[in-house]
Amino acid sequence: MSLSQDLDTVIRNVPDFPKPGIQFKDITPLFAHPNLIERVIEDFVNQYKDGVDVIVGVESRGFLFGVPLALKLGIPFVLARKAGKLPADKISHTYDLEYGTATLEMHSDSIQAGQRVVIIDDLLATGGTARATASLVQELGGTVASFAFVIALDFLKGAETLPAPSYSILHY
Ligand code: AMP
Repeated sequence: MSLSQDLDTVIRNVPDFPKPGIQFKDITPLFAHPNLIERVIEDFVNQYKDGVDVIVGVESRGFLFGVPLALKLGIPFVLARKAGKLPADKISHTYDLEYGTATLEMHSDSIQAGQRVVIIDDLLATGGTARATASLVQELGGTVASFAFVIALDFLKGAETLPAPSYSILHY
């Protein structure tokens, strides 16, 4: 079976989490299948083996895929974290959620001007989280080359709102 078909069989759909009406795509069962994780990372490696300087992972599930990808590519990994977690000099970006706001932060010295960046997270929904991360990367002088997701919820049309192309393995 294809990688996306195999992923579909292990990703757990949890209705009404964290609130009514949301179909939560739970990636935790994937981590019981090392061979499948390896295929996910290899798929991203094939996509990004040329011309990328830095991988930026979005807290926290973006870290799970971003670190092995950066290791395989032999390039730096940078953390985009929720507010109040990063200890050193940092920049912040606050964005709107359905109810309220959220803030992401990156260390000021984590991206060098002109670096080409891939932003990675487990899932693309409305795109708000990815756009906020892109704003941070751009404020630090980086160029967002692409966004990478294991899963994209295409019916929410988040990809159309992103400032660079995106690549997702499994589409719903
Ligand atoms: P968004 O900013 O709307 O694109 O939402 C993306 C972020 O929220 C990612 O970090 C996802 O992990 C999480 N997320 C949003 N919707 C879901 C969903 N249906 N299932 C799992 N995670 C989700």
